Amino acid sequence: MAKVGTIYLVGAGPGDPELLTLRAARLIEGAGLIVHDGLVDPAILALARPDAELVSVAKSRARHTLPQDRINALLVREALAGRDVVRLKGGDPLVFGRGGEEAEAAQAAGVPVEIVPGISAANGAAAAAQIALTHRDASSIVSFVAGQCKGLTEQDWSGLAGKGRTLVIYMGVKTAPLIAEKLMEDGLAPETPLAVIENAARPQMRVLRGLLAGLPELVSRESVISPALIVIGEVTARSPADGDLALTKIALEAMQ
Ligand code: SAH
Repeated sequence: MAKVGTIYLVGAGPGDPELLTLRAARLIEGAGLIVHDGLVDPAILALARPDAELVSVAKSRARHTLPQDRINALLVREALAGRDVVRLKGGDPLVFGRGGEEAEAAQAAGVPVEIVPGISAANGAAAAAQIALTHRDASSIVSFVAGQCKGLTEQDWSGLAGKGRTLVIYMGVKTAPLIAEKLMEDGLAPETPLAVIENAARPQMRVLRGLLAGLPELVSRESVISPALIVIGEVTARSPADGDLALTKIALEAMQ
């Protein structure tokens, strides 16, 4: 029987190559074929072999370069042709990364899959901004939600934010006004503190702080761009001011 390749669903973390797992770094360095999405930092792609084939299937909110079923088909086709495929995704493959859909497609085609976890944006941003997602004095529940999804207004987020809880919103920049309105309608105090972390764990990171009622204004005044996370809860008010943050040394320079 012809050799079938393996599909590796690999988390690339939030941006800084230093935040890759050893397993991810080794797979990237050894790969002949890497299929990556737009969130993967160029410094991470620079770890690939010079002769590696790099295929971008970048997705953005406004532009779908390749629909998900085409991506699934591409991965499966290459693996069935005998090639190992490193499918590289920002953050963790199984947190808003469609890794589950790709794993199902591979399994349905009889292709072996290995999943390599990555540091999800929430963890990377929390560390870089020194925001404790949980804190014995402030929060014992943390939830990750998608701010851009089908039927945002029908989503039931009640109970996810508020006293003793931390809410982390992925993909929420465009829908920030709707999100603030929704949470306040659910009864969350307008003066609940929050932080917006743009480009976490990258050299151009910004950490912006505000209150729930001011979220739409903050996002538009500061022209917040994707990728950014919105973290809502008391823990954000305990974190140090931007000037006191020592960013992890980004490995970019070292690699050039
Ligand atoms: N699988 C990824 C999430 C993909 S969804 C993970 O586990 O992190 C894309 C969203 O992730 C972005 O819209 C943004 O909200 C968030 N994100 C990814 N990388 C980020 C970064 N470096 N800084 C801030 N947010 C980031």
